[in-house]
Amino acid sequence: MTRTLIVGGNAGGASAAARLRRLDESREIVVFERTDHVSIGTCGMPYYVGETIDDIEDLLVQTPASLERRFDLDVRTGHEVLDIDPDAKRVTVAHDDRESVESYDSLILSPGAEPIVPPIDGIEACECVHTLQSLADARSIRERVEQGAERAVVVGGGYIGLEVTESLTEAGVDVSLVEMEDHVMQALDYEMAAQVNNHLREQGVDLHLNARAESVDLIDPTTVELADGTAIPADVIVLATGVRPRTDLAAAADLQIGDRGGIVVDDQLETAADDIYAIGDAIEVTDRVTGQPAHVPLAGPANKQGRTVANVIAGPPDSQERVLATAIAKVFDRTVAATGANEDALRAADIRYETSVTYSHSHASYYPGAEPMWIKVLFDPTEGDLYGAQIVGGEGVDKRIDVLATAIAFDATVFDLQELDLAYAPPYGSGKDPVNMAGFVAGNVVTGVVDVLHWDDLEDLDPDAYTLLDCRPIEERHDDGAFVNATTIPLGELRERLDELPEDSTIVPHCKAGLRSYITTRILTQHGFDATNVAGGYELYRQAK
Ligand code: FAD
Repeated sequence: MTRTLIVGGNAGGASAAARLRRLDESREIVVFERTDHVSIGTCGMPYYVGETIDDIEDLLVQTPASLERRFDLDVRTGHEVLDIDPDAKRVTVAHDDRESVESYDSLILSPGAEPIVPPIDGIEACECVHTLQSLADARSIRERVEQGAERAVVVGGGYIGLEVTESLTEAGVDVSLVEMEDHVMQALDYEMAAQVNNHLREQGVDLHLNARAESVDLIDPTTVELADGTAIPADVIVLATGVRPRTDLAAAADLQIGDRGGIVVDDQLETAADDIYAIGDAIEVTDRVTGQPAHVPLAGPANKQGRTVANVIAGPPDSQERVLATAIAKVFDRTVAATGANEDALRAADIRYETSVTYSHSHASYYPGAEPMWIKVLFDPTEGDLYGAQIVGGEGVDKRIDVLATAIAFDATVFDLQELDLAYAPPYGSGKDPVNMAGFVAGNVVTGVVDVLHWDDLEDLDPDAYTLLDCRPIEERHDDGAFVNATTIPLGELRERLDELPEDSTIVPHCKAGLRSYITTRILTQHGFDATNVAGGYELYRQAK
């Protein structure tokens, strides 16, 4: 009987096993999982630690017994694969202090990733330090909360750190979040993430940016010391400083490991060794936009690669797709999402790009409950090919990021976004959906209908060459703040007051978010002025400063 062994029984491994069985009833399929659980809801763990999900059993999506019953799989929990002999096509497995050797016709590696533990003095000796990678980790953090932890330090402001921060805050714990960079959520560009930074502070999170946790002092109370000397007391410390591919088995078997630290596979997900495949967090993928190798530790790619590898081994022709790394997180009252490349990635790949920012409502603003969202799109400045998108808002962000991810996956341009025929009724959207609006605004930039400056261009504007023009009503300027050196002419008065503007200067209209200033820019341009709109307006600038 043909025999497939799978290392790792969670997202990728379980998905591969189930698809393989659906394709081939006669194959022997053995899943080795070193913990006691398979197919757990890993992504739900942050919500368990802070009691939003009450019962840990709710995270057990499948059990070994349910997988065995439904898919006739041989699921061996508590079994750790220790090494691979690619020539003999055998693996060595440890279980209950015993070792056995198992042979395979094909081997699928889905061992996942391991948390990166940063070099912080004293953490080895501190019992209240936890990572969050396994159910056992989740249980340990939850126990701290149940034992009355009042203060937590979360190190790392990626989506897991943010979810844990929210979850612990909602459980009544005071959270300090320590992030090395100048913004949380590195998938976002600075000015988009700045809104998340600000929102965290509004929610009472003690946010430390550009900050490095240097040591843990075990005096009572336990204290986390930052490089700048700040000392933060903590009853529980959660390290959410990223993950690295788990490659020990593969490296020991001389499989190729790439520059991003993951197992190198071809488009059939096969490693350098015959009949050994690898999937999920352990591998390197190809970034869909930049074409560069990337490590994308997300559940979507892992699950889909599980299905693909089963097809490759026993089913219809298939190959793995390049990855967009579409991600979303709930951060208190905000939904934060990104897909495709951000500015850093495009710069690193030496790809020319332009960006635009729009501020739209989740549905018709006259229908109750509409929430604003900021959408940033990144695109080719001459052809309009879409490279990436980022959204910060509330309701409806999930829908828009998925539309944009789909558009990028089908090589859409910003002009295609304008044409998308999207569902509309007042409770759900607008006649011009936020995605259409993003396309209109970006399209105007590509076609030269409007020139734009960005929030970070404004600081260095030469006052002899540029005139800032605030086109909001004066009271809005007072309420929301303004550039002190800006001339104010509200949009409604512009046509009568054109003679107040200098003809030998580039006029830089701005409003709250860029719409009124766009109209102003168009009026000025048609009256012979040189005018450049401010993408995202004063509000985006204010959030980012
Ligand atoms: P894993 O799911 O990690 O599975 C690997 C398995 O292999 C583990 O069970 C491990 O015990 C086992 N194993 C390892 N080595 C061996 C060995 N030698 N022998 C036997 N067994 C072995 N992604 C999202 O897209 N959205 C989210 O909201 C999200 N939230 C997350 C929240 C948290 C707290 C974490 C930790 C991850 C989250 N992820 C999320 C990421 C997602 O869970 C992973 O991308 C996905 O689980 C990867 O699947 P995988 O099969 O590659 O690895």
